[in-house]
Amino acid sequence: MERYVVVHYHEVGLKKGNRDYFENRLCANISKILSAGGAGPRTVRRISGRILIELAGDADMNDVRLRLARIGGIAYFAEAWNSGQSLEEMEQNAWDLIQRKPFASFRIDARRSQKTFPHTSVEVNQRVGAYVKERCGARVDLENAERTVWIEISEKYALMYTERTPGLGGLPTGTSGKVVVLLSGGIDSPVAAWKMIKRGCRAIFVHFHSFPYTNKESQEKTKQLAALLAEYQLQSKLYLVPFAEVQRHIMVDTPVETRVILYRRYMMRIAEQIALKERVRVMVTGDSVGQVASQTIENIDVISRAVQMPILRPLIGDDKVEIVDVARRIGTYDISIQPDQDCCSLFVPRHPETRAYLPDIEKSEARLDVAESMKQALDSVEVHQIALLQSVSSV
Ligand code: ATP
Ligand code: MG
Repeated sequence: MERYVVVHYHEVGLKKGNRDYFENRLCANISKILSAGGAGPRTVRRISGRILIELAGDADMNDVRLRLARIGGIAYFAEAWNSGQSLEEMEQNAWDLIQRKPFASFRIDARRSQKTFPHTSVEVNQRVGAYVKERCGARVDLENAERTVWIEISEKYALMYTERTPGLGGLPTGTSGKVVVLLSGGIDSPVAAWKMIKRGCRAIFVHFHSFPYTNKESQEKTKQLAALLAEYQLQSKLYLVPFAEVQRHIMVDTPVETRVILYRRYMMRIAEQIALKERVRVMVTGDSVGQVASQTIENIDVISRAVQMPILRPLIGDDKVEIVDVARRIGTYDISIQPDQDCCSLFVPRHPETRAYLPDIEKSEARLDVAESMKQALDSVEVHQIALLQSVSSV
């Protein structure tokens, strides 16, 4: 039997009436992530409601599994073998496959997508089931079988498999448009980015640093985070923005309690300019209500009003424990907890403002002369294009 991987995707994409677009993108994403590892698949194509990957002879299934588990849009996938379509061949091949591991109960779950196939799925289940039962005496259990042989009959294939691996869910990367994610070196913003990526968005990262007033660690961390997240979105782009001059103006001329809010409002303005240049329509942050002083409802309101562009906050209702959980699962946690000097912890007060009042903030801003520093910050951004690495991390 030849080796394949059968990929089933979430229905949610199909309901939108853009099934072709969704499926083609998923095929292209699968080709890309598998090819980055080396040999790549022989073919990746759509067959009636699923995607069929024909593996190269020497493909390493562990590597394939790691890669497919990363990308959005997959409900589950399975390493499959192709049998002939006659009942005799299916009986024999199902038996070969199932007896690779011991089991006490089993079931056969056949599905046919061409109605011209001469047998119904029930007939296939019964014939193949009886054949297996006769040879091993195991119990047939339709509800709670220890082992299942799935048989998918489509075109010239009778694809058989016994193990399904859950996919990430969500939507194929690239099908939901681009977003600009404000990426700090912290725990939250990479998780916020991942959630958007999982929903099919392509995240473009913007990081603000205060080098040379701080060291370069935060920039290194965001490069690592962007590279890790490229494993989910197939590529990453990272803007590093020097923010120290803007901060210096704010520090000199405004009340100390409102500094962080002012920093954030200027970050938003600069990020909005980058977003417009990238033809992106929304920005994303890792805020969660009440987590720190800058994230009270009042402050979130005042920060959001600095720009026209909507700001999405996918973690807004999440607890820190839930966020840390995801960060661990997706692999960003270990990078995020490395020590760094955050630009916003530079010269901030012990008791920051928790209820910013927009007219006061606007009055402070009116006194500032930062236009030139903002322009300079934008002119001296560093842009990094990060390609998918050859090896994927095994988180
Ligand atoms: P994180 O864990 O993402 O750093 P946080 O809990 O530390 O978040 P804040 O420091 O208040 O919270 O930051 C809130 C959000 O503002 C971050 O999630 C991020 O989206 C954005 N942000 C903060 N600092 C930076 C920065 N230096 N560069 C880019 N974005 C930033
Ligand atoms: Mg932070």
